[in-house]
Amino acid sequence: MIETDICIVGAGPGGAGTALKLSYLGIPCVLIDKATFPRDKICGDAISGKVTTLLNRLDPQILNRFHGMKQEQIDVWGIKFAAPNGRDIDVPFSMNFNKEVDTAPGYVSKRIDFDNFLIEEVKRRDNIDFRDNTAIKDYEKTDDGWMVTDKTGDFKVKCKLLVQAGGAYNPFSRHNAGLEKDDKHYAAAVRAYYTGVEQMHEDNFIELHFVKEITPGYFWIFPLPNGGANVGLGMRSDFVSKQKINLKEAMLDIIENNPKFKNRFANAKLENKIVGYGLPLGSKKRPISGENYVLVGDAGHLIDPLTGEGIGNAIYSGFIAAELAEKCIAEQRFDAEYLKAYDVRVARVLYSEMRLSYQLQRTLRYPWLANTLANLVARNRKFIDLISEMYTDFALRKQLINPIFWFKLLSGRKVS
Ligand SMILES: Cc1cc2nc3c(=O)[nH]c(=O)nc-3n(C[C@H](O)[C@H](O)[C@H](O)COP(=O)(O)OP(=O)(O)OC[C@H]3O[C@@H](n4cnc5c(N)ncnc54)[C@H](O)[C@@H]3O)c2cc1C
Repeated sequence: MIETDICIVGAGPGGAGTALKLSYLGIPCVLIDKATFPRDKICGDAISGKVTTLLNRLDPQILNRFHGMKQEQIDVWGIKFAAPNGRDIDVPFSMNFNKEVDTAPGYVSKRIDFDNFLIEEVKRRDNIDFRDNTAIKDYEKTDDGWMVTDKTGDFKVKCKLLVQAGGAYNPFSRHNAGLEKDDKHYAAAVRAYYTGVEQMHEDNFIELHFVKEITPGYFWIFPLPNGGANVGLGMRSDFVSKQKINLKEAMLDIIENNPKFKNRFANAKLENKIVGYGLPLGSKKRPISGENYVLVGDAGHLIDPLTGEGIGNAIYSGFIAAELAEKCIAEQRFDAEYLKAYDVRVARVLYSEMRLSYQLQRTLRYPWLANTLANLVARNRKFIDLISEMYTDFALRKQLINPIFWFKLLSGRKVS
């Protein structure tokens, strides 16, 4: 049996991020994953600027090494939005980027590569005891923490703080922490890898298509290295049930029959199976800590409810957990009352963004509204510039849900 202050279950971005942050703080931990890396994770594979900002904050050398993975990533310079009426709007991430000298503001990298990159960083650290190929099955509460046991019953870790980072389907979040699945705050999505999709954007823009066959929800095409593409379709789970949608069939239907896509996919090849997975959305605030534990990333339902982005939030919550763990060790306090500080900090850092995304997600439920907005924006270059600035300026992004902002824009007044 191993005894440690901190045991992390799950070595995806949330768990690996927590372990790395602890390591840089000089705190040893045990990090466990049931998979053997490199392992795949069903995902859109889009790596936002939040992720690179956090890696840089941890250690600029890590970001340099990430940039060195040229074969496994593609630079992304903007987003193509398409309204249900088919109108496309190209929004560069910023008007001020110079591709010749700047690093890209976003990337697409298959999770089999990106997550393995994080694991390689974990392996560089002496104070992370990393155990892969170890599936945790039992969690037993002890007087001063948790005892976690793997499925063979032979491997046991006794810890004072359990960081649960086992992803969307981990049983601890549901059975021990009481986080029920609520279909209004949960999404389902399918993803497939293709090659040979045509008319990809020359600056590798990721594409989000709000197609009218699937409302509300979106169909995505994200560019990958070597002429590949990550193609997927996602929708809130309550609408999937209500409309009795089979997402795999719906995605193939869009690819084969939608006039906008069928030519683009005419020579495309599906590289492997279409696969699906759940997205626990952060649109509903939930308790994400308790007696001797914190929930990180998908285990704490922290995915952005509009974009489906969860990698950045998983790493961010892991950093917050690690910083609090440092204080827990100093004070020797791992009780629920003390750990509430985790919920408070995550809320402060992530929930204002999440609330805004939820409001926008609900607005986009109405195709007529999405179409009207797209028509307005597409007609006016100034709108596009503004939306572009919103990628890096959160205060400006907040204006999107303020009617006065739209009134000013439409009447030609200055918006700031
Ligand atoms: C279809 C789809 C598309 C998405 N697209 C994007 C996107 O483009 N960009 C983005 O930022 N986010 C995207 N997301 C969300 C993103 O995938 C998640 O938010 C992210 O993976 C969360 O990281 P995590 O570390 O919390 O969990 P995970 O990445 O799920 O990692 C959990 C880890 O726990 C391990 N584990 C599970 N059970 C056990 C056990 N019993 N014992 C030991 N280990 C265990 C697993 O093997 C895994 O390695 C998408 C999600 C889906 C489903």
